[in-house]
Amino acid sequence: MNNCCTQKETLKAYPPTLHCPANGKLYNKVKRKTILHHLLSPWSFTLHEQGYYFCTDPECGVVYFGQDKTRIAVDDVRTTLWQKTNDAHSFICYCFGVTKSLALSDEGIKDFVKTQTKNALCSCETSNPSGRCCLKDFPTTKNQA
Ligand SMILES: [Zn+2]
Repeated sequence: MNNCCTQKETLKAYPPTLHCPANGKLYNKVKRKTILHHLLSPWSFTLHEQGYYFCTDPECGVVYFGQDKTRIAVDDVRTTLWQKTNDAHSFICYCFGVTKSLALSDEGIKDFVKTQTKNALCSCETSNPSGRCCLKDFPTTKNQA
């Protein structure tokens, strides 16, 4: 019986948040599966059985860190992170390729993404470097003034 695709990574054993070893602020857990989909050369990294976390501070060079204080830096990932750059052409929705400027120019895009998310047609767990749904990252005209 082949059940390799049904084994789910569980994060329950690890603290929900941890301090980034570089800036000392608290960040949320992320799955190893997510990290592997964004590393520049995942075959050259060993991810251990421990909690990993995603640092979103634009001033911090660390993207992911482990409970053992392992650091994965901006240069170690192949994805451009909107959290770490001012580039308006970086993606905020990695599943459907929506940039910040696109989201601002067409509010209907957010509704499209909402619909796909509702129908479980998104792939945030792997496509989004945060491993989470991107909807909260969409800019609103209000906070972009
Ligand atoms: Zn950090």
